[in-house]
Amino acid sequence: MSTSAEPQRIVVVGAGECGTHAAMALRDKGFGGSITLIGRESVHAYERPPLSKGALAAEETELVHPWSPEQLAEAGIDLRLGVEVTGIDLAAGTVTTDAGEVPWDRLLLALGSDVRRLELDDVTYLRTHEDAAALRELLRPEGHLLVIGAGFIGLEIAAGARERGMEVTVVEAGPRALGRIVPQEVAEQVVALHAEHGVALRTSTLVTDLRREGGRLRALLSDGDEVVVDAVVAGVGAAPTTALAEAAGLVVDDGIVVDEGLRTSDPRVFAAGDCASFPDARSGGRVRLESWRNAHDQAVTVAASMLGEEQAHAAVPWFWSDQYDQMLSVAGLPGTGERSVLRHRDDGVLLHLGLDAADRLVHAAAVGPGASVAKDIRVAEKLIAAAVPLDPEQLADPGVPLRSILKAATA
Ligand SMILES: Cc1cc2nc3c(=O)[nH]c(=O)nc-3n(C[C@H](O)[C@H](O)[C@H](O)COP(=O)(O)OP(=O)(O)OC[C@H]3O[C@@H](n4cnc5c(N)ncnc54)[C@H](O)[C@@H]3O)c2cc1C
Repeated sequence: MSTSAEPQRIVVVGAGECGTHAAMALRDKGFGGSITLIGRESVHAYERPPLSKGALAAEETELVHPWSPEQLAEAGIDLRLGVEVTGIDLAAGTVTTDAGEVPWDRLLLALGSDVRRLELDDVTYLRTHEDAAALRELLRPEGHLLVIGAGFIGLEIAAGARERGMEVTVVEAGPRALGRIVPQEVAEQVVALHAEHGVALRTSTLVTDLRREGGRLRALLSDGDEVVVDAVVAGVGAAPTTALAEAAGLVVDDGIVVDEGLRTSDPRVFAAGDCASFPDARSGGRVRLESWRNAHDQAVTVAASMLGEEQAHAAVPWFWSDQYDQMLSVAGLPGTGERSVLRHRDDGVLLHLGLDAADRLVHAAAVGPGASVAKDIRVAEKLIAAAVPLDPEQLADPGVPLRSILKAATA
């Protein structure tokens, strides 16, 4: 199957963070053909991160849009909102929508992910701006909120609910909070922050049943206890949106499988953002990232790839979370058997650095006042990208600025 001819018609399915950035990046790169951007939500791309942070405390959701519809129109992007793509015909080179067929000679799938749901009724979830508006209705001062899941989103919702004056209980199935990419020491500091704000966290605990009793909900817990609450929200992870790709015959394995240029198993079809499983050069494995920065970085990589530039996606993964007045930020991915170095700064920042067997930095996580955390993690990202051996003693010493370590390492 030849893909060498310059594409004329590009269709992007998914008008969210990644799809919209990719459409604009195609224009930035000088693509002059048609771009059709199809999204099933009724609103043009908006930032999801504020939905679980500032927006919960605000009286109304004010959506933050990276671009206006007018800017997209000016860029000659044919934006079709409220339109669901229901099928991909690889042989014909079309997508089927509820409003007819759209032909393409390059296709980008930027489908995002869908929240994982529990087999319990009366549970609220958070993915879209509509979910955020519904959740905010439930956050009433003096009420009691049960949060299922002590990951990034669950803990952000817990912080938002406390700021609205609610009593908050968080239950977590795993043995500790933030078990996926945050090292234990940093997670403990985040948990301590929640305890200071009065959040009750119960780990190794499941909700086994939820019963409506009058206007309240009685949650039965796996340890035999019960809590009676006014609302239940779950942040128990997300699954990549892959059904369309799978039905079309594209290779899917915890995400739409792509190569380093974000090409799927059909070289005319690309995938990027939350829905894509891509080869990570640093770890040598496949990863799928649910992260705002990744959606942006991959949008740029995929736009280049779609236009025939040889590009390998190599950005260092980066995540952040805001809880109360603190920031939690992570760069890189935890390795196996890594050596840990802790750096305690005077201003309360705790930085955990994970080194591989050759003392190269592979992972960094920090919690504390936002500006300091952001600065340290920015330097840590560069140290991860540099992939050179570092001195663990210097890294642990807050008297040695990380910037000078970086300067020496990259000289
Ligand atoms: C509440 C919340 C808070 C977050 N906070 C952070 C944070 O603090 N830091 C961070 O790094 N990341 C955060 N994230 C994650 C970040 O927002 C996502 O990683 C990012 O939005 C991914 O972009 P995407 O374009 O891949 O997916 P999305 O932004 O989800 O866009 C995908 C779009 O495709 C549409 N779509 C799917 N299937 C079809 C179809 N068949 N037809 C048409 N349209 C379709 C979807 O409706 C959706 O609009 C948060 C996410 C949420 C939900």
